Amino acid sequence: MYSEDDMLMLSGIQHFRFCPRQWALIHMEQQWEENRLTTEGNILHKHVDDPFYRQKCKENICLRSVNVASRKLGLYGVTDVVELHPTLEENNSILHPGYPGRWILYPIEYKHGRPKKNQIDEVQLAAQAMCLEEIYGVPVMKGALYYEQTKRRVEVCFTEQLRDIVQDCALQMHNTYLSARIPQASYQQFCDKCSLINICMPLKPKDMSASYYLKKSLYEEAT
Ligand code: SF4
Repeated sequence: MYSEDDMLMLSGIQHFRFCPRQWALIHMEQQWEENRLTTEGNILHKHVDDPFYRQKCKENICLRSVNVASRKLGLYGVTDVVELHPTLEENNSILHPGYPGRWILYPIEYKHGRPKKNQIDEVQLAAQAMCLEEIYGVPVMKGALYYEQTKRRVEVCFTEQLRDIVQDCALQMHNTYLSARIPQASYQQFCDKCSLINICMPLKPKDMSASYYLKKSLYEEAT
């Protein structure tokens, strides 16, 4: 169980899964730069993140910007959407003060792109589900990712394999934070999509100083 002071931001799990160095630069050094992908994501979330928005869609209730946390994972954050699905079963369901009846929790995360081959989005959603489970004491077995580009939902089952990845990532995030060491850069193809590429400088040889590398890059660009 982590104490309140040791909690880390849940949203960082997607950065950590993408690249531990990216996570460390953002969450340990507070570095940030926007690129097209991050700007598109911000615009989408401006429309989604309204905590006062309540919507009834068919028989489901849609709650937005729900605060979540897990002391076991040491993570806290805000979910885009938690849908309440009606059920007659008493087990594995919750009561809500605003809505009579029993409800199954179903988290939904909005993404601006399209489904990816890695499991970054699934891991973030599963972490939210595990937080909801800890808060409400009920299992959360499924959720969905909504992709703006395809305008479709993809349902995600929170399998043991996915939960293991969440636990492993959370543990590594805490270990990295405690070590106070930023992981080394190592250039990969996906670095070209990273908004921090100019801060990280993954192509800089390890034995070259940052200032010399920058001067050299600027000179090469100009000639
Ligand atoms: S540029 Fe590459 S190595 Fe550097 S933080 Fe981004 S993804 Fe990680």
